[in-house]
Amino acid sequence: MKTPFAIECIQGDIARQDGFDAVVNAANAELQIGGGVAGAIHRTAGPGLAEECRPLAPIHPGQAVITGAHQLPNRYVIHCLGPVYGVDEPADALLADCYRHAIELAEQYGIESLAFPSLSTGAFGYPMAEAARIALATVMKASDGCHQLKQVRFVLFNERDTELHRKTLANLQHHDTHG
Ligand code: ADP
Repeated sequence: MKTPFAIECIQGDIARQDGFDAVVNAANAELQIGGGVAGAIHRTAGPGLAEECRPLAPIHPGQAVITGAHQLPNRYVIHCLGPVYGVDEPADALLADCYRHAIELAEQYGIESLAFPSLSTGAFGYPMAEAARIALATVMKASDGCHQLKQVRFVLFNERDTELHRKTLANLQHHDTHG
C-alpha cells in the first residue's frame, strides 16, 4: 500500500518535536502528569495543559482526545489511553483504536504533521515488537482516508526501539508492495 503521507521513525523526545503540528501523548485515564511520555509532555507544556485536560477526563482505553499544546512547540496534543497489557482486552484492537482515533482527530483539525510515541510499551507493559507492528500497520491502513495529514513520525526513546520500528515499517511496506 502506498501511503498518501510519509512515515518515518526517529530516535528522540516526544516533547521536543519542533515544527510538528501535533504530538500524541501516552496518557493516563485522568489525563494528568505521569511518568514516561505523559511526564515529559506535561512538564514541557506547563500546568495549563493539565487544567485544559481536567474536564475531558476520564477517558477509556482506545479513546483519543485533543487539546492545545501550551508551552510545547506544537499546536495540539492528542491524548490516547493505550491498553494495559494483560488487563485491558482485546489489547491489540484497543491499541489499534488509539492510533486510528488519533489520525481521525488529526484529519478533523487540519493537522498536517503528527508525531507518535510508542503507546502502551512503557508502564503499560505491551511487548515492543508486537506494539510496533500494530502501530505501523494501523497508521498505514488509516492513511487511505487522509487528506490533510502529510507527515507521520514515530519518536522512539532509544536506538534499539528505533531500529525495530524501521525494520517493521520496511517489512510492512515490502509486504504491501509484493503481496
Ligand atoms: P504507557 O503508559 O502507554 O506504557 P509510557 O510513557 O510509560 O506509556 O511509555 C511509552 C513508551 O514511550 C516507552 O517505550 C518509553 O520508553 C517511551 N518514552 C518514554 N519517555 C519518552 C519521551 N520523552 N519521548 C519518547 N518516548 C518516550
